Amino acid sequence: GRLLVPYGQGHTRGLEADELGAHGAAMDRLVALGLPVVPGLTVPAGAAASLCDPDTAQAAVDLVEQLSGRRIDDAARPLLLRLSASAPTEIAGLPPDLACLGVTPARADDLCALIGRSDALYEVWAATVRMIAEYALDVPGAVLDDALLDTPAPRVRVEVLLSLAAEHGSRPFPDEPAQQLALAARALLARWDSPRARRSRRSQRLPADLAVALHVQALRIGPADHSGYGTATSRDPETGRLSPRGSFFRGVRRSAPPPNTGEPLDRLAGGTALLEHSLLTLERHLRAPVSVDFEVRDDEISLLAASPQSRPPLRASVCVATDLARDGALGREEAVRRITPAQVQELLHPQLRLTGGEELLAKGLPASPGAATGVVVLSSERALELAADGTRVVLVAGETTPADVPGMLVSAAVLTGSGGIASHAAVVARGSGTPAVCGAEGLRVDPAAGTVRIGERVLREGDPISLDGRSGAVYAGTLHVSVAGPPPELSTLLEWADGMRRLGVRVNADTAAEVDTALALGAEGVGLCRTEHQFLGERLPLIRRVLLAADPAARDEALTELERAQHEDFRALLAAVGNRPVTVRLLDAPLHEFLPAPGQALDAAEEQRAAALREANPMLGLRGVRLALLHERLYPAQAEALFAAWADVAATGVRPELEVMIPLVSLPEELAAAAAYVRGAADTVAARTGVRVPYRLGTMIETPRAALLAGELAEHAEFFSFGTNDLTQLTYGFSRDDVERQVLVAYQERGLLTASPFARLDPHGVGALIRLAAERARDARPGIKLGVCGEHGGDPESIAFCDDLGLDYVSCSAHRVPVARMAAAHSAL
Ligand code: PEP
Ligand code: MG
Repeated sequence: GRLLVPYGQGHTRGLEADELGAHGAAMDRLVALGLPVVPGLTVPAGAAASLCDPDTAQAAVDLVEQLSGRRIDDAARPLLLRLSASAPTEIAGLPPDLACLGVTPARADDLCALIGRSDALYEVWAATVRMIAEYALDVPGAVLDDALLDTPAPRVRVEVLLSLAAEHGSRPFPDEPAQQLALAARALLARWDSPRARRSRRSQRLPADLAVALHVQALRIGPADHSGYGTATSRDPETGRLSPRGSFFRGVRRSAPPPNTGEPLDRLAGGTALLEHSLLTLERHLRAPVSVDFEVRDDEISLLAASPQSRPPLRASVCVATDLARDGALGREEAVRRITPAQVQELLHPQLRLTGGEELLAKGLPASPGAATGVVVLSSERALELAADGTRVVLVAGETTPADVPGMLVSAAVLTGSGGIASHAAVVARGSGTPAVCGAEGLRVDPAAGTVRIGERVLREGDPISLDGRSGAVYAGTLHVSVAGPPPELSTLLEWADGMRRLGVRVNADTAAEVDTALALGAEGVGLCRTEHQFLGERLPLIRRVLLAADPAARDEALTELERAQHEDFRALLAAVGNRPVTVRLLDAPLHEFLPAPGQALDAAEEQRAAALREANPMLGLRGVRLALLHERLYPAQAEALFAAWADVAATGVRPELEVMIPLVSLPEELAAAAAYVRGAADTVAARTGVRVPYRLGTMIETPRAALLAGELAEHAEFFSFGTNDLTQLTYGFSRDDVERQVLVAYQERGLLTASPFARLDPHGVGALIRLAAERARDARPGIKLGVCGEHGGDPESIAFCDDLGLDYVSCSAHRVPVARMAAAHSAL
């Protein structure tokens, strides 16, 4: 009863997995699930040697004949046997299967004729005879090798092997099936026990004397048109949908099917319905994408093996997790936990399909994820021209300036020679979802010649290139880009994730269009509207005129125009935001981004005024609140435009939760002065429109001094938003525009830093300042609202850090919002 155990009966006979072997246990599971399995039996580990006894082997033959409903000597529906071994767990180094047991020289040609292919089973049979001859009949391996050296044809190999066994073996190769099976069992066990196999087990940290179970399987011979074997996985890798993928082979199963002989599953004459049912059942049971080996007999499939798919395609994992959780087979938390934030990112952006033969031109910083191909253009104007004709262009520049923004927005991708992850090009590209590689080493643009040199290579305008903004790789030529969007199941998982996170997720968005995109991606509001970004591109002169006005009258005129433009912008922005929170930051315009380059001013007088404003360290100069204190009408003009816009949209029934934010503060007195401008503007608008606009006033924490004086600042601020880009720049003294290109590369090579602190929040320095500021702010103003709006707001590790500090929200560029939602959920789980 416990010696020969039919597949599916191990459990009822009181046998455990370690006795049944991994294969026997798997077959038991498949039978318990009601799935079709190949007829067969297990000889449990510990009793395996008894199969070497011809009487036991005879009983096994009888039992498999009975289980399969076939007889070995039946000429019309014949049966052969396959013997295999399995250990308690899946391991490498098991002896190979021995198939075609039961065949004799006299019957072989009839069997081949039945299959419909001459020679169909000789190759498999030769392998079996070879192993039995060496390990059970004691023919020396060297003798076998020598004799087979010049004998490629399988049919001749079998003849040679049989005569070698007769000549050199302890006995001739027998014709009786039971005797063949007994010898096969002896050969498998001897091979399993060989010094080499024992050594291999020791190297795998397995016991050298580990016992294996043996399995005798029916090998039902039939016409190749209606029989064969194959493998299948459960999901379509492109969509993640349930749809068997794989191939099958006609004829007798071999351990390594000949290459390029597989046929697609839809050629299975019996259809794929049963296969699909089996895969779905197994997915529920194994709670993962699965793969199976199967056999086809008379157009019907039966399973030979089943397991969780190793390295399943990402889309398959997402869809299986969601499907299982919907069916209740998996907890929703477990489903959410299975997909990492990095995988969310991978699903959202197009990817390059690399084949290995690509020419890598350069590696730069992975500045904005996604992949694209296009032709090189070397100026924003040219990008606009070609893109208008529908050409896909890649804007290549030494560095980008605000004037390049319109060109960047129509480009398929952006590539720059300088600039870091927090540089202007990178921030704009991420905001618009354009793939970008910045700081590509050795990139030199020669606008006069219309060429760009990258290392040794010289490219001209119009040459195709491809780039991957996630790895920073730039390739020559047009590579294939896969653009399949994320499966709808991702939205479901993210909605579940929303219910599991504490931390809010907002977007850094400057325009109504960006807000729309971000809301569709799940943003809960706007955490940072950089108002200076509303003047990038063709509206640059508006700011320039304020900065370079010849006299107060000219400045007032310029400010009036700026206010009018802002009124429109804000109305559109607030209408898009709806009843959600929105943080509008008053102007923070580093002068170098907005002044004309030397020689590009309108006239000599303007050039003189511009020259007087140019700074050696613009990022540390007349920026943020400092400019507002020098140009006292600037913030009132902006704030009036903002409040008037709020009154406009309120008239349509929409009431955004307005937050007005002051940038680059270091002194509490700066904030107090700026707050007074904003209050004055609110009064002005109330007097003019009769609407008293509800708003909160807050500040960015971007300088170490602001962090240290958070308690004092909190007396003037109802919320803080940590500007971790500038805070990182100023805490390390690392220029956010320059340092990644050389210093950080060298530091990472020397192991001084692992990641760029502009990409991953530095928990020890910058993070300590944030922690301290949060504590001091909460002491001064319990319940004060705290967020992060630097680029770190989209980085999973930094998000976990913010969650641990109990901050209220992170804010990041639109296309990172789903990543942040998942990261915040993972941090909470
Ligand atoms: C910051 O400094 O982190 C920030 C969000 O402001 P900006 O990037 O516009 O300087
Ligand atoms: Mg800043």
